[in-house]
Parts: sequence; structure tokens; C-alpha cells
Amino acid sequence: MAETDVERQRTAHYAVLERQIPEFVGRLTWSRAQIEAHKTQAFRELLRFVQTRSPWHSRRLAHLDPAVATPADIVHIPTMNKRELMANWDEIVTVPGASRHEAEQALRAMTDQFYIWGDNVLIASGGTGGQPGLFLYDWQASVAMWAGTARGFLPSLAKLAAHGVEVPGGVRIASIAAERSAHGSYVMGRIFSNPRIPTRSFSAWRSIDDLIPELNAMQPHFLGSYPSLISALSAATKAGKLNIAPRVIYFGAEHLPDASRQLARETWPETDILTCWGTSEGGGTFPCPCGDGFHVCEDLVIIEPVDAAGNPVAPGQRSAGIYITNLFNKALPIIRYFIDDIFEMDDKPCVCGSSYQKVRQVHGRSLDMFRYGAITVHPAALELAVLEQPCILEYQIRQTRRGAHLVYRSGGNVDSGRLSAKMRQALLSYGVQEPEITIEKIPQLERTAAGKLKHYLPMTH
Ligand SMILES: [Zn+2]
Repeated sequence: MAETDVERQRTAHYAVLERQIPEFVGRLTWSRAQIEAHKTQAFRELLRFVQTRSPWHSRRLAHLDPAVATPADIVHIPTMNKRELMANWDEIVTVPGASRHEAEQALRAMTDQFYIWGDNVLIASGGTGGQPGLFLYDWQASVAMWAGTARGFLPSLAKLAAHGVEVPGGVRIASIAAERSAHGSYVMGRIFSNPRIPTRSFSAWRSIDDLIPELNAMQPHFLGSYPSLISALSAATKAGKLNIAPRVIYFGAEHLPDASRQLARETWPETDILTCWGTSEGGGTFPCPCGDGFHVCEDLVIIEPVDAAGNPVAPGQRSAGIYITNLFNKALPIIRYFIDDIFEMDDKPCVCGSSYQKVRQVHGRSLDMFRYGAITVHPAALELAVLEQPCILEYQIRQTRRGAHLVYRSGGNVDSGRLSAKMRQALLSYGVQEPEITIEKIPQLERTAAGKLKHYLPMTH
């Protein structure tokens, strides 16, 4: 496709977002009854559509009648996972002529545009669980995926206007993110970022020390970053090197531990610290405007927190994973798809007044657990010892046969005696016998292709 054609397509796509964003924002004030009514209608439409257009899904859903089914019937639908999605891609996809083989071939040749088979958008996700995933979004679904999350930032941007910043023209946005890639956040951002307020991108691959002068010069109102950079940004601020006062800092793409969120709040007390959770399978949440957790986009997805046996987990309890159903994407329907993120829903209504289901925290992934024989340790227990060392800027905890190996980058002296003693204590508290802890300072930690830093590295048995 010629460059100008792609640009024309992007401009048209962005125009759809602009026309529709008021509707997506308007839904945020819906009552429970309005959310439920919309969900039922969207669920029926999805059933009706896949029963006629997706051979794989239609076999699994033949027993449900779209005229009377309700979202409560979702428990009667078999679950699916990434392996099944990839193995049955050609029978799941509903775009005429589309195939996994062609998508893989196309992806290799794509550099900065990801339209395929007309106006569908192709994205790839990393290989968590050992296998990369390929996801296809239709024209309208791409808009919904972006708008579903982006609407959560608008209240904070509106505050900028109250502070005399011209919105949108005068808003300065900086993002420390992945470089050009096929990852959803990059691809959708490329299409849907407001062309009147271009985002200045900084590569997560560069060191923070390199980025500081440019961030100081730019003075962003809005900063997007990975949670794994909080310690480094906070240390630079406390040392007087980084002098920025963003109105909003958004931490996305990785698990945000409570201690890191707290550190961010202390470092930038005047700033809205926002976070949310998203996935290539369907986006999924929008940040709570009060900065405390996030809400499920229930107008777009159904998220069922489940235990290891697939039974529902109540709000206030930690799940072993979730089933996600994407109600809005018809190109490659995702229905009751397992993701191993540990969800904890809130059992109380949110202070922000939203009727949408509130997620208190996502505690990393089940697959990241450290297993020592019959003993399972959540590596966050070891991480507590690391987080209380203010000089540690970046770190990775690697499981070893009898304990753990910590590698870190630091900006000062680390009390390694206390650090290893506390990590050892954490393992002992789980019942690990004579745990061995080793610690190593290194100059640079390696990030994934998406720019993320893996904090926990379990042993593969
Ligand atoms: Zn809220």
C-alpha cells in the first residue's frame, strides 16, 4: 500500500474516533441497569454473528439461542486459550479470505502500518506462555478498543484546561514506551493519537540518565511510563536532576505493585497517578479518575475472575486468572479466553461514583509464580525486600533451584546484608528449606521487545 493511501486511511479512522468519542464518554455515567441492558444486547449480537460467520465458535455455541440468551449463560460456553486460538485461527476469523498464514507473512513485511484485508488492523502480542499471539480487529472494533481506555484520561485532561493550558493544542504529552512494533499499544496509538497533540516518544531502551535533559526541556503535562521505571524516575526527582511537574502520570503495560504506586504518589503529590490493565485480546479497562485502581469496560468486555479449577472468584479475593470475552470485535471473536493475570475485584462501590466493576489490583501472572517442589511462592513476597532499598532503580528476581538470584541496577549504596536476609526470610515463611539468595549488581537490565522489564523470572521445570 502506498504511504499516502495509508495516511488517508489513518486520517479517516481517526475521524471515526473523534465522531464517536462523546458516545463512549457518555456511557461512563450509565447506571447498573443501563450497563446490564447494553451487555445483554451486545452478547446476543455476538452470539448471532459467530453462529453464522465463525465455524469454530458456532460449533461450540450451537446450544445457545441468541434471541433469549443473557450474559449469565456465558458459563455454558466452553473456554478457550491462546494455543487454541492460534491452532484454529482460520476457522475462528470471520473476515472473508483471511488466514493465519497470510497474516504471518504480512506481519513480516509490515513496518509502520498494520492494515490488512481492507480496513482490518493486525496486532501481535508477546510470547507469554511460550507462544506469540496474532489478533485481528475490524475497523469499528479498533475504534472501540482505543476509546474504551482513552475516555478514562479525559477528566484529568479537563483539569489542565482549568489550569490555563489550551486543550488540546497546548497539551504536551511524553511517552516512555516501546519502539516501533506490532504491539497493540504502538499500533493503535499510531492510528488514534490526536494529530493536533503529537506525543513525544522516548524509547524505553534508553537509560533514564539519557532521557532526563530532554524531559526537563520538554516539561510534559502528561507522562506515560512503565511501572518498572518508577524507582529510577523518583530517585532522579529526589536528587534534583529530574524537574518535571506533570498533571498526569500514567503507568501502563506492566503490573504496578502497591509499593511503587505509593512511591509515585509521594514523589509527585500534585499529580494524578493513573493506571489500568489492558490486553491484546480486547483492551479491557479504563483508569479510575480518582487514581485508585481501574474499572472494567463492561460495555465492551466481560471479565470473569476464576480460580485454578475455573470456578468464579468473588470480589475481594485473588483469582488464578480470568476469562475474557470481547463483545465488540467481530473480526476475530474472543470468547471466554483464559489469561493468567491474578485479578482482585473490589467488593465496595468506587469513590469516583462509577457503576462499572472496579478492579482493586492485578497481582502479576500465575505463570510468574516460583515453585519449589510442592511450595508455591508469589515472587512479590521477595520483591518487598527490594522495594525498601531506595537506591535500587531496576531489578529482576530470577528463581534458582534452591532460592533466588537478584540482579539490579542502582544509583547508590544498597544494604545487601539486609536485602538478602529479608529475601531469605520471605522464602522461609513459605516453608522453603535453607533457601539460597544471591545478589548481583549489573550496569543495564535487558527489556523485552515491547520495552517491558520482566521483574520475575521463574525457572522452567
Ligand atoms: Zn473509580
